Amino acid sequence: MSTTLKPCPFCASIELSITFTDLTARVNCQRCGANGPENKKQTMEQAEAAWNDRSQVMSAH
Ligand SMILES: [Zn+2]
Repeated sequence: MSTTLKPCPFCASIELSITFTDLTARVNCQRCGANGPENKKQTMEQAEAAWNDRSQVMSAH
């Protein structure tokens, strides 16, 4: 069901989970506590895409 999440851009952990808060979804890193870009009412797929987009940005720097 879930798409593949990229490793955490901060600690490279793949221990990631997705939580729902107030009708939105976000990705959380289980190791360092980082959580994904949090937008209003995003779906799980959008949360995953946002996380992956940031991962790409972070790795580029
Ligand atoms: Zn992390």
